[in-house]
Amino acid sequence: MNPAESISPQFITELLSLGLRLEDAGHGAPGRRGGAGPSDHKAVTLGGKTVMAPIDTAPAAVSPFVANAPDAEGRSVIRRAGIPIATVSFPRQPRFYALKTEDGIPYSHIAVLHGADVLATTVLQSCIRYANRQKSCQFCAIGQSLEAGRTILRKTPAQLAEVARAAVELDGVKQMVMTTGTPNLTDRGAAMLCESAEAIKAAVELPLQGQCEPPDDDAWFTRLKAAGIDSLGMHLEAVTPAVRARIMPGKASVPLSRYMDAFDAAVAVFGRGEVSTYILAGLGDSPEAILSLCEQLIGKGVYPFVAPFTPISGTPLARHPAPDAQFLRSILQPLGAMLKQAGLRSADLKAGCAKCGACSALSSYEV
Ligand code: SF4
Repeated sequence: MNPAESISPQFITELLSLGLRLEDAGHGAPGRRGGAGPSDHKAVTLGGKTVMAPIDTAPAAVSPFVANAPDAEGRSVIRRAGIPIATVSFPRQPRFYALKTEDGIPYSHIAVLHGADVLATTVLQSCIRYANRQKSCQFCAIGQSLEAGRTILRKTPAQLAEVARAAVELDGVKQMVMTTGTPNLTDRGAAMLCESAEAIKAAVELPLQGQCEPPDDDAWFTRLKAAGIDSLGMHLEAVTPAVRARIMPGKASVPLSRYMDAFDAAVAVFGRGEVSTYILAGLGDSPEAILSLCEQLIGKGVYPFVAPFTPISGTPLARHPAPDAQFLRSILQPLGAMLKQAGLRSADLKAGCAKCGACSALSSYEV
């Protein structure tokens, strides 16, 4: 098998749903445990596409996909029931992980590599909603990596700029994703994203996506853009009121209608296709509900990045089942067609999760 072979969207969907068992867990860039974004995952590259495969989750422990120890070239074979089905490689440990700031903070505690070439950071590793686990987003693990000493609470603009420059120069990262816990109920993190973007853009040319809840004032969109944010993500996670209230009781206090208004205001500033949202499939929303909202979002010029929910160890949803591949396909296939029809393509975004695409098979369905 050749690593450049074309890999079917179905296989990527199944791998993201069922996870991967590794015979040699120590190879490649280390997986992440806890934190915001993809966690308990490891990046694997197959057919030219990098996928964040769940490896430390409950479903992955019994996954039918098993990767053997890599050969001398770093290639490994994934087998199902003993039958080889794909050749994969693991992105190497980034060079910038070996560096520290002058005050001794490892660069990897400030930002990490996602997928193949994305630098990702959580500017504020805390959230007004996380202190109360009843009110917090039930899937979120933002406090876990902080408690484990693998990150720091607040990444300063200067630290982010220093690490971003190193990651570009040493590892050729192509874009950066900055998310944040929500620090307050006013700007909701937009001010921190602005000061961080200004410092990063002064240090290095790197497309940037900012991610936050809709701020209280749409003027923040202009400020974010002026500060150097190229793409904006405002993540819905769940779409129907009952699921929103159950899965993210705190964040659901911001109604869907506010998100929809904020999307309009943001698209007016960032442009069609440069505003996106992240929807987790498998938390209770039906395919019809997700597709119906996605249709509205696409009409507004917003890219709806739908990714499978992955149960993360230590969260209230650790034992929640991951969605099966058929359920995912019933969303991603028609959604890919809708995106294609509308001319909204993940590859055209300047930065962001939708452009990276490692957490979902969606981009494979756009063609
Ligand atoms: S899709 Fe987003 S969260 Fe997933 S690996 Fe890429 S940048 Fe990270």
